[in-house]
Amino acid sequence: MHMALTDPVTSLKGVGKAKAEQLGRLGIETLEDLISFFPRQYEDRTKILSISELTPGEAACIIATVVTQPRTGYIRRGLNTTRCTIADSSAKLRVTWFNQPWMSTNLKAGETYCFYGVLQGDERGTQLLNPAVEALDAQPLVTRRVIPVYPLTKGLTSKALQQLIFRAMDQETMPEYLPESVLKGKMPLTPAYREVHSPTSLEALTRARERLVFEEFFLYALGLSMMRARRDRDSNYPCPKPIPQAFYDRLDFQLTGAQERCLSEISGDMASGLPMNRLLQGDVGSGKTMVALGAMLQAVENGYQAALMAPTELLATQHYHTISAFLEPLGIGCALLTGSLTGVKRRRLLDYVAVGAVKVVIGTHALFTDTTDFGNLGLVVIDEQHRFGVRQRAALAAKGSTPHMLVLSATPIPRTLALILYGDLDVSVIDELPPGRQNVETFLVSTAYRARLRGFIRKQLEAGFQAYVVCPAVEDNPDSNLTAAETMYTELQAAFPDYRVGLVHGKLRSEAKDFSMQEFLEHKTDILVATTVIEVGVDVKNATLMIVEDADRFGLSQLHQLRGRVGRNSEKSYCVLISDNRNQDTRRRLEALCKTNDGFAISQQDLDLRGPGDFFGQRQSGLPMFKNASLAEDLTVLKEAQAAADRFYQSGPDPEAPEYRPLFHRVEALFTRADDTFN
Ligand code: ADP
Ligand code: MG
Repeated sequence: MHMALTDPVTSLKGVGKAKAEQLGRLGIETLEDLISFFPRQYEDRTKILSISELTPGEAACIIATVVTQPRTGYIRRGLNTTRCTIADSSAKLRVTWFNQPWMSTNLKAGETYCFYGVLQGDERGTQLLNPAVEALDAQPLVTRRVIPVYPLTKGLTSKALQQLIFRAMDQETMPEYLPESVLKGKMPLTPAYREVHSPTSLEALTRARERLVFEEFFLYALGLSMMRARRDRDSNYPCPKPIPQAFYDRLDFQLTGAQERCLSEISGDMASGLPMNRLLQGDVGSGKTMVALGAMLQAVENGYQAALMAPTELLATQHYHTISAFLEPLGIGCALLTGSLTGVKRRRLLDYVAVGAVKVVIGTHALFTDTTDFGNLGLVVIDEQHRFGVRQRAALAAKGSTPHMLVLSATPIPRTLALILYGDLDVSVIDELPPGRQNVETFLVSTAYRARLRGFIRKQLEAGFQAYVVCPAVEDNPDSNLTAAETMYTELQAAFPDYRVGLVHGKLRSEAKDFSMQEFLEHKTDILVATTVIEVGVDVKNATLMIVEDADRFGLSQLHQLRGRVGRNSEKSYCVLISDNRNQDTRRRLEALCKTNDGFAISQQDLDLRGPGDFFGQRQSGLPMFKNASLAEDLTVLKEAQAAADRFYQSGPDPEAPEYRPLFHRVEALFTRADDTFN
């Protein structure tokens, strides 16, 4: 009978409805799912010691003879123990199993077995507790080797799962997609799968894992190379005229060296005749907006429209205020287009945009709905890029005319993630803050400190400055004891009757949000109680104090972003992290933040501590899912795969050639999955 990878697991001998259901709970439906269901981790059981060499707390294999026939004693309902003594040439040792009465019949006095377990020590001596046991010639071995540990579900043991996986592998082999030329020196695919499911040694396992990780990265990297190549055609929007002098004349500060360098890289791209695809990276407060504005003016100078897309309405609105104030005197029309603009107003604005009467359009994702028709869009700037992934960019480019694209990222992300997320982009980095900026002094305190903190807030307000108080929740919830913004708002109003307190959070209507922000910006309020809606980009120069309630609820990079809301002028600024969490790791994370203001160091630490899944918080999108590859650990393999993919693509393979067709299909599928949406 011929089977295929896409056949259901029930086509395997021994898999009926019940087993299939158990597997289904693990997301395994087909033979392919089974073969590519990878162990969560491995347990190294290769160390073999004699009894006298054992140390308490350390796991090892022992080859020993059963001296006394094991006996089971019943302690009480549901609890029995089976005990015996074992010995090798070095010493004797007591062994106890809880609730494994079959040990007394399975083991025979006088016979030699391999035991694997951890030596337990107490004042009465040492013993081996619940060791795994097997005959010296057992098959398959569960001691004396590296054991895979799978995520499991009720009714399914690791051993049963492993057996099914092997049965599937005996029936079917995973297809090789990668071209022979890039596989030189690599473990072939089939042995690699076998090794991953049943390692012969740690070294072989490492090589096998690398092989599979390489494949994942290679497919992804090849997709990036293709995207890049596809866009490297003549631009429809050549911008030979440089950034107009009027831009520099309007600035009320001197650009930093880093800003100037980035501007000239961007300007050069736009003049080059090819479409620009550039990432502008810089820590919070490094002044990305002005650089983006320079680029927008170059587009306008050359007769095109420019659009700036922000992740939230709040941020779009703020950009609109800054940018329209800058552009108005220059006579350049500027408009704000968000989801909350509706009806006649929206239609009228869309008309203006379509005929090119509005030169600069600022908005949210609503900018790129099907109803928006730009007359002559030459440049798209995407702010806070990490919420707008590779696939979204691919979709945007597919909309047609490939305008110049500039993406701004305030989250200084680690190198690995940068390669994954922005591998299709050229990169400019603003690695310098505007002069006069000071580090934001950061403290970690407990709630016991709250009264003194009120005194500190008052001092800042008396000096004429403003403060943010960020809470993890909007309203009180009996199921959690998170500090709620609404409660904090009421409390602070009572505590500071002589000052004005504002409130902004995600559950407010967008006009209400804008109103609160505007009031804070114009210093009509002194304290702003908020949730993380203010996380990105908000720019109120007069704010010098950032307080974060339940700081342990936030990721490090998120906290760094929040902290970046203060210290925006030359005044001394402070960030106070409040947390009663005593967990050591949590405290270490938060203390790391107190010690450094360097966003790159912080993001690397965040990635190491929390893993890439959590890195961008709940809303992260655009990050591809890898089965084996770890973005935190596999940087070397990633680089190798990227170089190999580039080389391969440069060699000009024909995607329709029979040997490459499956490969290119697979890559296309990676980049055009069904969930291809703008968030
Ligand atoms: P971010 O990189 O976080 O988006 P912004 O563009 O919001 O930073 O800039 C932060 C603040 O610094 C803004 O108020 C901006 O006007 C100001 N700024 C930008 N560049 C300079 C500069 N070269 N000198 C002084 N202030 C600057
Ligand atoms: Mg910004």
